[in-house]
Amino acid sequence: MIVIKNPEQIKKMMLAGRITGEALALAGEMVKEGVTTEQIDRKIRAHIEKCGARPSFLGYNGFPASACISINDEVIHGIPSSKRYLKEGDIVKIDVGAYIGGFHGDSANTFPVGKVSDEAMRLIEVTKESFRKGVAQAVIGGRIGDIGSAVDAYVTSQGCSAVREFVGHGVGMALHEDPSVPNYGTAGRGAKLTRGMTIAIEPMINLGTSKVIMLPDGWTVKTADGKLSAHYEHTVAITEDGPILLTEVK
Ligand code: MG
Ligand code: MG
Repeated sequence: MIVIKNPEQIKKMMLAGRITGEALALAGEMVKEGVTTEQIDRKIRAHIEKCGARPSFLGYNGFPASACISINDEVIHGIPSSKRYLKEGDIVKIDVGAYIGGFHGDSANTFPVGKVSDEAMRLIEVTKESFRKGVAQAVIGGRIGDIGSAVDAYVTSQGCSAVREFVGHGVGMALHEDPSVPNYGTAGRGAKLTRGMTIAIEPMINLGTSKVIMLPDGWTVKTADGKLSAHYEHTVAITEDGPILLTEVK
């Protein structure tokens, strides 16, 4: 069931979104060689709690940390660790959620550690641009399939591939709500986009195959071919004025 939010509820989601976006921005500022993923996680948790919110991911299905931090060929759901040091040339995906006032925000970004390869930088750019292509379709009267179709067409044109086994989702009172928002699909198909829908649009884009595998920790998802992956996500409200990025901080 798709839960439609009224303007009052969207206002509350703006607060959850802002805290999420701020925590992600602070995390991004920490990204440099020699920092551990646990240090970044701690900073994220501290900021969220300072704002009176709670980290959405902490304890979610037993997840042991406040953020998912995934490096290079890890796609999503990497577990922060005091043994995991960032190295020059890595790309690091940080995924954050904050819960306050009954609502969640959910946002992710991919950060380069120092100087990275041209292909890594290009993947980061392609992923961000694919998000823009997708979010441009998040308008009243459209369909869910319009979003995924736009993302997939763009990344394919750039020689990259969109992960299919994990998808975007509705977000609001629950971290994961209906509908699913795949990064592939057919334009004109799927649930109708209506005023007050709030969805996480989150392309997970690979340099090589779209196939992914799960690591033995039961959380970390990595590319099947070991090539790089990037991730970009915002919580988006569909409104009469067009899509609003609730987790964007300016
Ligand atoms: Mg997320
Ligand atoms: Mg999400």
